[in-house]
Amino acid sequence: MTRVLVVGSGIAGLYTALELRRRSNVDVTLVAKGALRESNTWYAQGGIAAVLPGAESTDSTGRHVADTLTAGAGHCDEEAVRVLCADSAAHIDRLLTLGTRFDRTDDGALAVGHEAAHSAPRILHIGGDATGAGIADPLVRAVESDPRITILEHTFLADLTTSGGQVTGAVVVRGSGESVPLETDAVVLATGGAGGLFRHSTNPSVATGDGVAAAWRAGAVVADLEFFQFHPTSLDVDGHPLISEAVRGEGAVIRDAAGHRFMGDYHPDGELAPRDVVSRSIALHLARTGESRVFLDATAFSAGFLSRRFPTLTAVTAAAGFDWSRDLLPVVPAAHYWMGGVATDLYGRTSLPGLYAVGEVARTGVHGANRLASNSLLEGLVFGARAANVITGSAGNWPVFDAQEVDLSMGRETARRDDVRQVMSEHVCVLRDESGLRVAAKQLAQWRVGGSSIEDRETANLLLCARLLTHAAALRSESRGAHYRSDFPTAGAAVVGPTMLRSST
Ligand SMILES: Cc1cc2nc3c(=O)[nH]c(=O)nc-3n(C[C@H](O)[C@H](O)[C@H](O)COP(=O)(O)OP(=O)(O)OC[C@H]3O[C@@H](n4cnc5c(N)ncnc54)[C@H](O)[C@@H]3O)c2cc1C
Repeated sequence: MTRVLVVGSGIAGLYTALELRRRSNVDVTLVAKGALRESNTWYAQGGIAAVLPGAESTDSTGRHVADTLTAGAGHCDEEAVRVLCADSAAHIDRLLTLGTRFDRTDDGALAVGHEAAHSAPRILHIGGDATGAGIADPLVRAVESDPRITILEHTFLADLTTSGGQVTGAVVVRGSGESVPLETDAVVLATGGAGGLFRHSTNPSVATGDGVAAAWRAGAVVADLEFFQFHPTSLDVDGHPLISEAVRGEGAVIRDAAGHRFMGDYHPDGELAPRDVVSRSIALHLARTGESRVFLDATAFSAGFLSRRFPTLTAVTAAAGFDWSRDLLPVVPAAHYWMGGVATDLYGRTSLPGLYAVGEVARTGVHGANRLASNSLLEGLVFGARAANVITGSAGNWPVFDAQEVDLSMGRETARRDDVRQVMSEHVCVLRDESGLRVAAKQLAQWRVGGSSIEDRETANLLLCARLLTHAAALRSESRGAHYRSDFPTAGAAVVGPTMLRSST
């Protein structure tokens, strides 16, 4: 193995590139479609979960595993979860070696916070609520200082190239519009998620499902695409910045336009119910009242308290024109994290020899039907390192997934990105049912996206992901985790396995 292409400069791509170089003398090409510093990773706020040595009196790997399995609603791959949790401390250690400055307590120990659905304090953070940028910055600097890592910014992965069922490289499009073939011994997809599928999303604009789409076209198996986590309280302004659960944890409440505090009508834990429950309750309430947004009320707190406790959010709300010590904040649920993705084994290996997937683009099985907060940054580290390990060692046996074949030939009508988002937001969003999914599937199947600009390619990828997600959602006739079917409002009696799909063409 001498040349490896890593696509994506979020935590998963950066860390995989560095781990490849640490383990072997390979040459790495790192490709990002925007600037190196533009990714979901940079926006991550709350933190990264890890059970650190010395935490034995309050925490254990077993408890982290149990919390992750509970959040995943009976749909996690238990072995993958064990790997994720067991390896957490070693990778935090590695980040510290690379110069990451996690917040510390007065006595110099690493500070660990408590987050909803974690049974113990185990969330490391940086700058209070700027964890993603704090982790990514030293990783970017390490990548930039390695002469054997070639960095290609503003370079878009268009497609993977294959020969005899094996991935042999990729075609990328440079900023100038020129298509360039890159031949490599292995390709690592680290392209993140696809918040761009929906009208409201907390993700930056680079999240357009390109990795899932390219892998699908190359013939890889994808899995669990129906599971998309929505964050309940994104500020209803451009960019939909999220207003963290911690604000509700401090006592902020949710009201409708009439001032009614309605969450208690839907769940006994009210505003502190799990993330998917709060998102669903808001969506149900909006459907019942015919309104388009609800309001987060933090006016019981003083301006001084809010700016001390939530400095970033105070700045974000002020930039949007709100003084949240006086104004109610308009909020809506927004697409946040895609649990599904390219199916992999415990080493990031996909169904196609030569192709690996790590981070949010991968479906490792660690998140099941619902991601436990602060586990996704960790996933990028743990599985990025495991993929680097097999790429630089022995690739071993490639996994075989039992997948249903699907024919997604394209329709005739030209679609715009907003058309796709409109359909997905109306029919395949927080609340789903058979008739809505049928309407969406029929409409999406009539569309195609022409053109070869980067924007057209992204829209084509979103359309493909939308069709796959809708197909998977129709197959799952039950409600589980983030996937809620109002026509099947409970989980199936038997645990239904992952939804594995592969192209029939
Ligand atoms: C607002 C927000 C807050 C969050 N808070 C937390 C948190 O506190 N804790 C936590 O664990 N998780 C959090 N998450 C989730 C977490 O940030 C992401 O799941 C994680 O960062 C994904 O990392 P990644 O490396 O897989 O992908 P990303 O960080 O999204 O990086 C994807 C990379 O791929 C590149 N790319 C994409 N398509 C192409 C293409 N076609 N060609 C070339 N390059 C391409 C992009 O340019 C980018 O560099 C949060 C997410 C958001 C949006």
